[in-house]
Amino acid sequence: MQPRRELLSHRALGVTQSAVRDVFDIAMGPRLISLAGGNPWLADLPLEELSRIAADLVAQQGTESLQYGPGQGLLEMRQAAAAVMAVDGIPDADPELVVITPGSQAAIDTACRTFGNPGDVVVVEDPTFVGALTTFNTWELDAVATPTDEQGLIPASLEETLTALAAEGRRVAFLYTIPSFANPSGALLPAERRDEVAAVCERHGVLIVEDNPYGQIAFDGAPLTPIAAAHRENTVYLGTMSKIFSPGVRIGWALVPSALKREYYLAAESAFIHASTYSQMLSTAFLTQLDWQGHVREVTDLYRERAAALAGAVREHWDPAVEFADPKGGFFLWATLPQGVDTLALMHRGIEAGAVFVPGAAFSPVEGVHSTLRLAYPFVDAERLVEGVQRLAPAVNEAVAEARTR
Ligand code: PMP
Repeated sequence: MQPRRELLSHRALGVTQSAVRDVFDIAMGPRLISLAGGNPWLADLPLEELSRIAADLVAQQGTESLQYGPGQGLLEMRQAAAAVMAVDGIPDADPELVVITPGSQAAIDTACRTFGNPGDVVVVEDPTFVGALTTFNTWELDAVATPTDEQGLIPASLEETLTALAAEGRRVAFLYTIPSFANPSGALLPAERRDEVAAVCERHGVLIVEDNPYGQIAFDGAPLTPIAAAHRENTVYLGTMSKIFSPGVRIGWALVPSALKREYYLAAESAFIHASTYSQMLSTAFLTQLDWQGHVREVTDLYRERAAALAGAVREHWDPAVEFADPKGGFFLWATLPQGVDTLALMHRGIEAGAVFVPGAAFSPVEGVHSTLRLAYPFVDAERLVEGVQRLAPAVNEAVAEARTR
């Protein structure tokens, strides 16, 4: 059906459906092996204990759990979020500075409402999280990429980007960054660069929005200390229950600088009043009554095995001209095909062959042909991952061969 354009705001008209959404619709088909969606593996959750807790929340605490709650979020949930952040590497997060949101997606949206004017710039990694790009688009913010390498942001390049933007008279609303096991690149920003990035931003008076859903999904060793740990007054730090517990509860949060808390929290309240009371109570129970860190360890072990199976299959079945780094954590393997390969067209050929990935174009603020793609491994068992890579192999290898003859 044609949209009724005359009723739509400029904002709504400017929003383009993301390629990921398109893919999700297709990827629902049972015939396809989906290497597209970033769904966490939930079958290993302690479902029996959770169902007992969930039933009690209604039977014994129903008048509380089904009621409105405080705009900033329940104190117990904010304290539990602080405990999660302590494991992330921020040992002293003050629950008074935490705002609970319906997922970190809503926290990104709130950051746009609070800090961005239409036409402002948000500086991003290229590639970056497609959901954030869509939100920036909705708020008429201009996502500008700053150069990255396989480790993420390059501080000297960020300095140049911010200097150039200042020279053009552009207002920068904030830097949006995913320093740990980024979606989609998987990049892990080294500790020394984290401080340098913070220093560059502080020098330019630019706020940092640090999004960290994957920090604890580290395949070897402990999470790297977030930027926010040592740069609290210039960083809005985003956390979520989505990857360590459940995305369906829709619970995330922002740890906000004290000087910005009131405005951030009022902007959040104007959008959604508060995150679901019931979901907050269920999430709090997960974090205080159950062995949540044990669960994170268990799924991280599973993801490590799946990532290895996926990387091994790509190495075995795809042309060696396809470049990628073995995932060190998080949810994704990011692959770069030879220049000129259009992975959007390749995606359609892959779907005909029975497997689907997300083409790199979805994750870039820059339009045009992209030769990159994202494979997700958490939700598919190792055998199916290998099968998916094999199904895609003829189309991938043909596209690489075609690129060679050009
Ligand atoms: N940020 C990043 C980097 C993500 O990958 C995702 C989910 N894929 C989100 C935010 C949104 O997560 P949620 O709203 O479920 O917390």
